[in-house]
Amino acid sequence: LLSAVPQIGEIAQITAEQLVNIGSQDIDEEIWIKLSCRVNELLNCDDIDGIVITHGTDTMEESAFFLQLTTNSTKAVVLTGAMRPSTSLSADGPLNLYNAVAVAACDDASDRGVMVTMNNSIFSATDVTKMHTTDIDAFQAPENGKIGSITGSKVTFNTPPYHHTLTFPIKDGIKLPKVGIVYSYGGIDPDMVTFMIENKYRGIVHAGVGNGNIHKNIFPILEEGAREGILIVRSSRVAAGPVTLENEVDDNKYHFVASQGLNPQKSRILLMLSLTKTHNWEEVQRYFNMFVL
Ligand code: ASP
Repeated sequence: LLSAVPQIGEIAQITAEQLVNIGSQDIDEEIWIKLSCRVNELLNCDDIDGIVITHGTDTMEESAFFLQLTTNSTKAVVLTGAMRPSTSLSADGPLNLYNAVAVAACDDASDRGVMVTMNNSIFSATDVTKMHTTDIDAFQAPENGKIGSITGSKVTFNTPPYHHTLTFPIKDGIKLPKVGIVYSYGGIDPDMVTFMIENKYRGIVHAGVGNGNIHKNIFPILEEGAREGILIVRSSRVAAGPVTLENEVDDNKYHFVASQGLNPQKSRILLMLSLTKTHNWEEVQRYFNMFVL
């Protein structure tokens, strides 16, 4: 990849390594932990100013958010990928890689947490999501927008630096609790949830309709799950907007957690990491409240 973009040598001194070689549809918690531990090691090296991670686009937002929550540095960590294969006309990978290095090497990128750069835009790991299956402009931050852009090798940020304070320190070999996502739809079958309860999931993220609403076929099962100590997070299958506390669902009564600005896949990551610290739903809600839109 690097030899395909020799111009990178003009803006940074690079060392490269390969942690895994997979399609990102096959990512899992073990790889996130391995990646996070290695990134943390590198962030602690005095001779490293920033890190670029090349990643498949399918789950890039999850890996970026996992790193956001498990690293704590002022140095830039930037993920990038390609929407078009390298063999296609106008492949976007080389420019995306160049841009990612330009961002990681830029002084102004300091203290902005983990970022994703795609198609000349810079996004925070917290806000970014893949919004289109095939377009080169697939990555967007539907609520907060991009935090900067790249033109030529000029990197411009349009937001002030922001130090993300919520960090879950993780060690190599740690096993994350079992957390699943149930996707809601008209007439949802209770089996979708009872399976998780019977199989001892510690947390369930509900990708609900609208503002995280729950179908009557599964509401009582989730309510019972929460009573038994399973953490239930109400997120939404809607692409933008928050899931707010105490809207149509009485969260205080049922001990459900509202996902605020996090989509189901990011809610799952925060819930897994939260469960390494606490099983108290109010404390977990406080973590999610850090993502109020
Ligand atoms: N399925 C691929 C992946 O995410 C697509 C891509 O590389 O963008 O790994």
